[in-house]
Amino acid sequence: MKLPKKIRLGGKTFGIILWNRDDEAESNSGSISHGNQTIKILKTHPDQMRDTLWHEAVHMVLTAAGLMEANKNEAMVAILAHGIDDILANNPDIRGMYEK
Ligand SMILES: [Zn+2]
Repeated sequence: MKLPKKIRLGGKTFGIILWNRDDEAESNSGSISHGNQTIKILKTHPDQMRDTLWHEAVHMVLTAAGLMEANKNEAMVAILAHGIDDILANNPDIRGMYEK
């Protein structure tokens, strides 16, 4: 799996940073900094990294929309992230809709 180097949304670009568990005493597998416009992804199993990327991307979308209460609902963020990842992983024709 090739992790993207950045994600763009609504005119903002967030850099993606890979990190190892040894680097920092952080318990989450990912985090997002809106100030620094970075998303940190723990280096682990590729499926987990993909899921973490989507999790942080859902946080990006909710923040961009100003839905800060929804953004605190980690269970909902996780469900949306799993759903998007599952759909994209299992439906190559959907991915094909974005090819030019
Ligand atoms: Zn979260």
